[in-house]
Amino acid sequence: MAEREELTWELFGSAGRELAQQVADSGYEPDVILSIARGGLFVAGALGYALDVKNLHVMNVEFYTGVGERLELPVMLPPVPNAVDLTGAKVLIADDVADTGATLKLVRDFCADHVADVRCAVVYEKPWSEVKCEYVWRRTDRWINFAWSKQPPVIRREGQVLDA
Ligand code: 5GP
Repeated sequence: MAEREELTWELFGSAGRELAQQVADSGYEPDVILSIARGGLFVAGALGYALDVKNLHVMNVEFYTGVGERLELPVMLPPVPNAVDLTGAKVLIADDVADTGATLKLVRDFCADHVADVRCAVVYEKPWSEVKCEYVWRRTDRWINFAWSKQPPVIRREGQVLDA
């Protein structure tokens, strides 16, 4: 068996549609899709079109610094979405993968106090994830190469300040 799971752009096309179909079949009609940047942006875009949801928000969370290398805890980076925008809403959190699940837990807990309902949709979920997502395209215990992050950046930028 291959050491890594490969999500090509072509496969991602099917994954997005199939994940959206799961959401639609469950009867959940989100008012807001909350994407976790950066990997979740692609997933949120695909779900937004397929589910006809135009209201997309972004949360920046930093956790992994390399293959299997991560910070002690995921950290929310500014700008943090205005809680008022989420109040009373049915929210669908979109991300590429629930690995430890710590990132999704942080975002779900952030939402929980304000929203009417919150559910998670991911392309992949690993068996040890502390968050069990309502919508999962595939399950794997391997490291995943995503189409958007497999190649190195064309330019390296150090010391970025996100809210500058
Ligand atoms: P978690 O908080 O669930 O451990 O992971 C959150 C983030 O770490 C994911 O959204 C993703 O950006 C990154 N990550 C975790 N596992 C993998 C993986 O197998 N492959 C890649 N490329 N990124 C991963």
